[in-house]
Amino acid sequence: MKRKEIFAGNWKMFKTCSEAVNLAQELISGIKIKEGREYVVFPPFTALKVVADTCKGSALRVGAQNMYYEKEGAFTGEISPVMIKDCGAAFVLLGHSERRHIFHETDALINKKIKAALTYGLQPMVCVGELLEERESGKTNIVLESQVKGAFEGLRTEDMKNISIAYEPVWAIGTGKVATPEIAEEAHVTIRKYISELFGENVANALPILYGGSVKPDNIEGLYSMENIDGVLVGGASLDGASFLKIINV
Ligand code: PEP
Repeated sequence: MKRKEIFAGNWKMFKTCSEAVNLAQELISGIKIKEGREYVVFPPFTALKVVADTCKGSALRVGAQNMYYEKEGAFTGEISPVMIKDCGAAFVLLGHSERRHIFHETDALINKKIKAALTYGLQPMVCVGELLEERESGKTNIVLESQVKGAFEGLRTEDMKNISIAYEPVWAIGTGKVATPEIAEEAHVTIRKYISELFGENVANALPILYGGSVKPDNIEGLYSMENIDGVLVGGASLDGASFLKIINV
């Protein structure tokens, strides 16, 4: 079965508004659009609207890097799904390892955010992945199972049409240590199995699962050649137009 592919860039806490618009323009003019492939960038909140405006009518879609689960209210410093939609974004990144490990987000919180994102018509890209010590102590699958089952608890089968997963082993994020294509493929197969246990084989087979963690122009081909890797979520290498274009045009 041919699954939808997603090639995404997480700009983290980088780029002023003008830098973000320049990068978006460079990407829009350099993308060689492939059928069945979606292109998404996750700018910082401050640049979300200007980047979404820049991307209107192009192949490049936009998402927020985080979100609170309430529609509005006294939650100083938080951003709601309605505000994100209003900026023109279609996606939201949830459960990124920097949110989990620096800001102590739990699976229960991520689950609430996913449900709120779906309620307000955003497509959640949900990140899962193990720490180095968890991999080294043989706990990778236990961690992936509890993250997947915790994140998607209470979701309906039809919700899964609007979801993608990014497998991002924490030891590979921003470290220059990429997972080998075989290690990544094995984790993707495992994640698909857990999705199948929750929602059945058809949902699992249709779900885009991206790899993230030190993806660069020189390692994209090996990763992309694996059957269960349906695209990539790129951090550092998505901050430079030329390098991100080499990845998304693979
Ligand atoms: C990320 O931020 O999601 C990421 C994968 O970062 P990097 O590509 O820099 O490892």
